[in-house]
Amino acid sequence: MPNILVIAEMLDGKVRKSTHSAITFARNAGGTFSILVLGQGAKAAAAEVTGFGAQKVLVCDDPYLANPVAERFAPTIAAVAKSGFDVVAVTASSFGKDVAPRVAGKLGAGYAPDISGVKDEGGKLVYKRPVFAGNAYATCTINTPVQVVSARQSEFSAAEPSGGASPVEDVALAAKDAAAERIEYLGLSAAKSERPDLGEARVIVAGGRALKEQFATVLDPLANLLGAAVGASRAACDAGYAPAELQVGQTGRVVAPRLYFAIGISGAIQHLAGMKGSKTIVAINKDPDAPIFQVADYGLVADLFNAVPELVTELKKATG
Ligand SMILES: Cc1cc2nc3c(=O)[nH]c(=O)nc-3n(C[C@H](O)[C@H](O)[C@H](O)COP(=O)(O)OP(=O)(O)OC[C@H]3O[C@@H](n4cnc5c(N)ncnc54)[C@H](O)[C@@H]3O)c2cc1C
Repeated sequence: MPNILVIAEMLDGKVRKSTHSAITFARNAGGTFSILVLGQGAKAAAAEVTGFGAQKVLVCDDPYLANPVAERFAPTIAAVAKSGFDVVAVTASSFGKDVAPRVAGKLGAGYAPDISGVKDEGGKLVYKRPVFAGNAYATCTINTPVQVVSARQSEFSAAEPSGGASPVEDVALAAKDAAAERIEYLGLSAAKSERPDLGEARVIVAGGRALKEQFATVLDPLANLLGAAVGASRAACDAGYAPAELQVGQTGRVVAPRLYFAIGISGAIQHLAGMKGSKTIVAINKDPDAPIFQVADYGLVADLFNAVPELVTELKKATG
């Protein structure tokens, strides 16, 4: 049975909810797991993950880890992994995707990114992961003594606490890496939004190039009404109609909300790669042959500039 090291991700002194997907991965893989919380303020944050059934919550609280510079985190993660773990698991977030290959490099470990499924076959972990922009799935195993994986947040839903209280143990900061010394941290400019994060939203209202400069004017009322996150196609982002961090797709965020509105989005395979796992897809497009209708559960052939305001009016009536 594998012994898994789950890496917690911290932001503003708290454990990010994305970490809960890596915990679900560990639970699904079977065996035992511990959670490593690293960062400045990790000691206080560790209490947030002691109720998830981990054997131990390991803590490395150090000002050197105050900022998300992967080169500073990798040596300590690799050192802890060597203390008896078979698998290092992160959530496939920006931070996870940054740190995991560096940890694998340090350990000489095989790395399987973007895992969408895991099962134990006769004591060997078999991973499922998307290939060819999500058009096919590969199953793979890793043959190195320690394995590194990143788990897709869209496929491993956030773990709920299971009760109990895992013991908390301090671990030392590993020797600093020469690579980290060549990096100067200048700052993090994160978009502040009242809306839910795309990766955690239950409803996403996404728009394409068709919305032009009216992207926000048309979509915001619908998103506000539904408490939804707003997403966008790459064409909409590239044209400057929507900020880049809203991009959904192969080269953007991968999401799987309960409800996904694709409004004025053609449905190119690169966009589908980021949203086709959504539970229910609603498409509004004026072209009846748009590929998005092939994956949509509900499709409306209409001009979005009429259809979306009408939908907002009807929803307001229905919800009082
Ligand atoms: C390597 C690579 C990576 C990529 N990664 C991504 C990615 O991560 N995410 C992504 O989205 N794309 C990605 N793309 C781009 C992708 O191929 C498409 O170009 C892009 O998704 C198209 O965006 P769109 O559907 O908004 O625009 P368009 O293709 O221009 O489609 C606009 C749609 O709006 C409809 N429409 C127009 N006017 C109206 C109206 N008034 N009412 C209703 N409907 C209307 C049209 O019928 C059309 O279907 C990538 C491409 C490459 C090569």
